[in-house]
Amino acid sequence: MTPAAAPASASLHDIPYPHLFAPLDLGFTRLRNRILMGSMHTGLEDRARDFPKLAAYFAERAAGGAGLIVTGGFAPNVVGWLTPFGGKLSWPWEVARHRPVTRAVHEHGAKICLQLLHAGRYGYHPLQVAPSKLKAPINPFTPRALSARGVERQIAAFASAAARAREAGYDGVEVMGSEGYLINQFTAPRSNRREDAWGGSAEKRMRFAVETVRRVREACGPDFILIYRLSLLDLVEDGNAWDEIVAQAQAVEAAGATIINSGIGWHEARVPTIATSVPRAAFAGITARLKPHVSLPLVAVNRINMPEVAEGVLAGGQADLVSLARPLLADPEWPAKARAGRAHAINTCIACNQACLDHVFENKRASCLVNPRAVAETELNYPPAAVRKRIAVVGAGPAGLACATVAAQRGHAVVLFDAAAEIGGQFNLAKTIPGKEEFHETLRYFRHRIEETGVELRLGTRAGPEQLAGFDEVVLATGIVPRKVEFPGSDHPSVVSYLDVLGGRATAAGRVAVIGAGGIGFDVAEFLVQEGPSPSLDPARWRAEWGVDFEGGGRGGLARPRPEPPAREVWLLQRSPGRPGARLGKTTGWIHRATLKAKGVKMIGGVEYLGVDDEGLRIRVEGGEPQLLPVGTVVVCAGQEPRRELQAQLQAAGFAAPVHLIGGADVAAELDAKRAIAQGSRLAAGF
Ligand code: FAD
Ligand code: NAP
Ligand code: SF4
Repeated sequence: MTPAAAPASASLHDIPYPHLFAPLDLGFTRLRNRILMGSMHTGLEDRARDFPKLAAYFAERAAGGAGLIVTGGFAPNVVGWLTPFGGKLSWPWEVARHRPVTRAVHEHGAKICLQLLHAGRYGYHPLQVAPSKLKAPINPFTPRALSARGVERQIAAFASAAARAREAGYDGVEVMGSEGYLINQFTAPRSNRREDAWGGSAEKRMRFAVETVRRVREACGPDFILIYRLSLLDLVEDGNAWDEIVAQAQAVEAAGATIINSGIGWHEARVPTIATSVPRAAFAGITARLKPHVSLPLVAVNRINMPEVAEGVLAGGQADLVSLARPLLADPEWPAKARAGRAHAINTCIACNQACLDHVFENKRASCLVNPRAVAETELNYPPAAVRKRIAVVGAGPAGLACATVAAQRGHAVVLFDAAAEIGGQFNLAKTIPGKEEFHETLRYFRHRIEETGVELRLGTRAGPEQLAGFDEVVLATGIVPRKVEFPGSDHPSVVSYLDVLGGRATAAGRVAVIGAGGIGFDVAEFLVQEGPSPSLDPARWRAEWGVDFEGGGRGGLARPRPEPPAREVWLLQRSPGRPGARLGKTTGWIHRATLKAKGVKMIGGVEYLGVDDEGLRIRVEGGEPQLLPVGTVVVCAGQEPRRELQAQLQAAGFAAPVHLIGGADVAAELDAKRAIAQGSRLAAGF
């Protein structure tokens, strides 16, 4: 079977992304396009009662045009659990709950594979097993080393779970062989120190993977999709070497795999692989490197978030399919919009991880920052309104934009005011941060939504009581004001706000101290150390900075990181004791800290601000001796307060219409765009 990378029919030349929408003939079955929805854990996999919600979630993605969907991971047995009582398919009575899921997807013309994931030493429970008794650095539990019979039992569990998946109506399975889970633990010397038939040489280390594929194929027959997720870059020391990876690919192909999906980086890797600062399609090159060595279709993964990126990967012959995981959480209609030439209407995944991966790591149900309906399809809906109201929304930041466009979509007459000359509020500052270029996409999306839903936009208009007269509902999404700091010299000309620095009204001269190490303090420090185009826009520079090696023969695909020199000397300070950045996102905080460390930023906690004068900022750290930081600029990022003066004016004017506060205007503490957009959308869903 040779995958056709070129358009399969003449009519496909008429659509904007011909390679993306070329069907893929797998011999016994055909995929309608090259879009594979990558596996993501949502939190709905673990309990039978959540499966109707899971079915609705997948049905929307199938209706939106995905070709092949892969579920979140299901363990083949109890010891393979990711978390206690997590999703598993091993017992006969666990089959029936899946049938509504497969039926719903098939009704919309897509195919669906169940991912079989044995967590091995990543299992967050005491029953976990692994090739060797070696604790993963990211897990408190130490695994039990499998006996030879135990190894056989794991393989048998994979085969029997795959057979049950077939019984449940799945078109195939994805065998998870990457990301540092059990199979990957067998293939890499880092975690496999065995000296029996399952370890020692490279050939013996890959035997578990190959046997699993062979037995799954045997159990399910020839007309069943078998995707093998192969780790192409482990990004850890003592990971697999490239020649071993090629040998594994060839062996799983010979053992009966239908498709090879790319896996990038173990969970314990210290190289970012999907965060927003990772360039788009940054890892397609490593999938391309495997192509000449196998003849089955390959899937490129990670940070492929817009159709032109996907089309480029396919047209360039780097892969035969593209995996979109988070992008389909953000917009289930992504494929349909692309196919219709409406890429500008796509709600783009900005790779923030804030509502998806961070939630999963916090044991919460996943959703999406830019699409709060994700994984809430049966709960949050925007039906046509029974009564058309006149609604005023003040403030076109994320909260106001979400509220105005959802209300207008439902048929209300909405006027959206903003004092600024453009929509976006603080997102206009966020988009200036190196590595946050994706935030432009959210603003593009909302510009389109305003037009599409017929919101009347009044920019450059500071709304007051007179502008708001005559509306049935008034929504105040007026955002925040930066918190002022008070200490001797806080009014010195060298003390400026992040608003001034990011807005281009103040230039940071010489050395700089940043007061406040929250999300904005970290972002400002990254802004200050990076001058010129960000490496996030240049995969080669980005790989050099993080030490990712596509070409070399070293294990794990690692090279020595070569960070570019910082543009300035920066201190990042907070009053609380301990390590700055402890409250940043679960899956991204470490990236921000590592980035600043590599740029020589001095991050200090337990700081007392003694004063600012012409010589710099005077501080005391953890009650020690006073010291002078010889800085020319002090940037204050000390948090935010709600902006509510309009509410007070409306109250004073005895305003009759209901007034709602959302976003930063409601609660500024720990406000992020996730909360702002969700709150705006939910309010509008209720009008
Ligand atoms: P805002 O975005 O502050 O918008 C309020 C709007 O109201 C403004 O446009 C203002 O002009 C307008 N306005 C106020 N009063 C009036 C009036 N009387 N009449 C008309 N218009 C008025 N969040 C994340 O989740 N993830 C991130 O990675 C992230 N990064 C950030 C990086 C930076 C540098 C900054 C500054 C913020 C970042 N944030 C991030 C925070 C996020 O941008 C805010 O949480 C979000 O913008 C709050 O939305 P909002 O709609 O409540 O208010
Ligand atoms: P923040 O997270 O609340 O951080 C404020 C910082 O200022 C803290 O370090 C705080 O630490 C310090 N501070 C507070 N009061 C102070 C005072 N009176 N004097 C001196 N220092 C003071 O707020 P933020 O950084 O402004 O961010 C605002 C919101 O934007 C955040 O809630 C965040 O969710 C969102 N955001 C998110 C991201 C992201 O990547 N997810 C990025 C940017 C922003 P001490 O009190 O210890 O000094
Ligand atoms: Fe993408 Fe952020 Fe939504 Fe996750 S939460 S899908 S990373 S936009």
